[in-house]
Amino acid sequence: MALPSKVQYIIIGAGIHGLSSAWHLATKLKAKSKGDGANILVIDKNSIASGASGVACGVVRNNYFQPAMRELMAHSVDVWESDPEAFHYHPVGYMQISPKVMEQDIANIYQEQKAIGYESNFIHGEKQSFDYMKNIFDDWQAQGITSVLHEKRGGYANNTSSIYGLAKKSENEGVRILTGTTVKGFKSANGSSAITAVETDKGTIECEKVIIGVGPWLRDIWNMLDLPSKISIKDEKGNMHHDYPMWKYWFLTEGVLGVDPKTQLTNDGNMPPVIHVDSDAPLYSIEDKTLITDNIWGIYYKPDFHFDGIQGGSSPYEVDMPAENVKVDPYGPDSEEFVIGNDFAHMWTSALAFCQKRFEDKSKFFKKGSTGGLGCFTPDNFPVFDTFRENVHIIADSNHGYKMIGVGKLVADEVLGEKSSLLDPFRFSRFIKGELHPVSQSPFPWS
Ligand SMILES: Cc1cc2nc3c(=O)[nH]c(=O)nc-3n(C[C@H](O)[C@H](O)[C@H](O)COP(=O)(O)OP(=O)(O)OC[C@H]3O[C@@H](n4cnc5c(N)ncnc54)[C@H](O)[C@@H]3O)c2cc1C
Repeated sequence: MALPSKVQYIIIGAGIHGLSSAWHLATKLKAKSKGDGANILVIDKNSIASGASGVACGVVRNNYFQPAMRELMAHSVDVWESDPEAFHYHPVGYMQISPKVMEQDIANIYQEQKAIGYESNFIHGEKQSFDYMKNIFDDWQAQGITSVLHEKRGGYANNTSSIYGLAKKSENEGVRILTGTTVKGFKSANGSSAITAVETDKGTIECEKVIIGVGPWLRDIWNMLDLPSKISIKDEKGNMHHDYPMWKYWFLTEGVLGVDPKTQLTNDGNMPPVIHVDSDAPLYSIEDKTLITDNIWGIYYKPDFHFDGIQGGSSPYEVDMPAENVKVDPYGPDSEEFVIGNDFAHMWTSALAFCQKRFEDKSKFFKKGSTGGLGCFTPDNFPVFDTFRENVHIIADSNHGYKMIGVGKLVADEVLGEKSSLLDPFRFSRFIKGELHPVSQSPFPWS
C-alpha cells in the first residue's frame, strides 16, 4: 500500500487494542454518518499480532480485586461473547482457587460480581473447596485451599487467530492496515501541543487524531510525545513521591506442557475452565523433592489446541533495571535476554503436579523453547487510558490487556467526543491525586 499523505485517524499498533479501536471506530463513524473505515489507517512496524497480543496466553477473566477492573472486564467479556467464532474465543469459564490469606478478598470479589450481575459460584471452606474441585477433576490434590471462585463466563481465546479476526472485521469496514512501517516521531503546529502529523520511516502522514496501542513499546512512543518519564505520585497515606519512574518492565513467564490437550478433560469429558491456583503451601520439586519456595506462589493453566498442550504461566518477575535500559526488541520468542528458563519449567510443572495427580509424571514433556514476553507496567500496575497532547488517545494497559477487547470500543467513543465512565478510574491524573487502585494479597501484580 502506498503511504497516504493525509488521513483523519491514525492508529499505531496492530494488536488487540489498535485493531479493536479501528474496528469500533469504523462502525461508529458509519453509524453516525461521519465517515467509515476509509478514514482510518492502522500502522505497525512489524506485522499484525507481532507484539504481546500474539504471544499472550489469552485468558479472559473477571476476577480482579479492583472494582473498576471488574466492571471494565465485564464490558469486554460482552464483546468477546458477541462473536466467539471470529475471535476464536472459548467460553469455558475461569476458576480462582485460593488459600486462607486471600479468602476475604475473593469473598468480596464474589459479592461485587453478584452486584454487577456477573455469574459466578463461591465455595468457601477447605473441605468444601476440595470436594468441589474433586467433582470436576477426580485427581485434584492441592492442599491448603480454602476458597474457589468459579466464574461461569470468560475462558480464553487463541492469541494470533483472534487478532486476525479483529483485523478482518476492521478491513471489512474499509480500514487500511499498513505493516512494516515504523513510527519515528510526531509533529505539531507552532504554539500548539496537538499532533498534526505522524512521522514514519516511509514518510510523514498528516492526521487529526491519533490512537496508540503499542503494548511493551509504549515507553518509546511516550518519549516521542515528550511525556514525562518521571512523575509525582500520592500514596494511600497521602504522602507525595516525586521523580517516580513512569514505566517499569516485568517479564511474564509462560510455557507449554507437550501432552494431548485432552489430558485435562473434566470428569464428565468436557473442556475445563481455565484454572488459576494461588497457594501458600510449600512447593516441592516433582523431580527431586527439594523445596522450590515457601512463599506464596501462583500458576494458571488450560488445555489449548492452539499451543498443542497444556499452556499456562506463573507469577512474573520485575526486570531489575531502569525502563530506559530495557531492550524490548527483538520481542517475545525472538528475544535472547527475556525468555523463560529451566527454573520456570521446574516450578510450573511441579506446581501442576501439586494440583493434579495426572501431571506427576509429565514434567519431561515440558516444551523447550522461547516463550513468555516483556510487559510495560505503570506505577500502580493498572492501565492508563487517557488523552494526551489534546488529540492523542493512549491505551497503556499494563498487561491486563489481551482480555480487554472492549477498551477499543470505549476509546472509539471518546475519540468521537463521548466520555466513558468505565475508563474514568484509569486516567493519568490518578497518580498525582492519590486515586490509586487497591492492592490485593495475590502474588500477581495484576490481580
Ligand atoms: C507472555 C504474555 C502473556 C500474556 N497473557 C495474557 C492473558 O492471558 N490475558 C490478558 O488479558 N493479557 C495477557 N497479556 C497481556 C497482553 O498480551 C497485553 O496487555 C496486550 O496484548 C497489549 O496489547 P496492545 O495491542 O496494546 O499491544 P501489542 O499486542 O504488543 O501490539 C503493539 C504493536 O505495536 C507495534 N509497534 C510498536 N512500536 C511501534 C512503532 N514505533 N511504530 C509502529 N508500530 C509499533 C508492534 O509491532 C506491535 O505489533 C500477556 C502478555 C504477555 C507478554
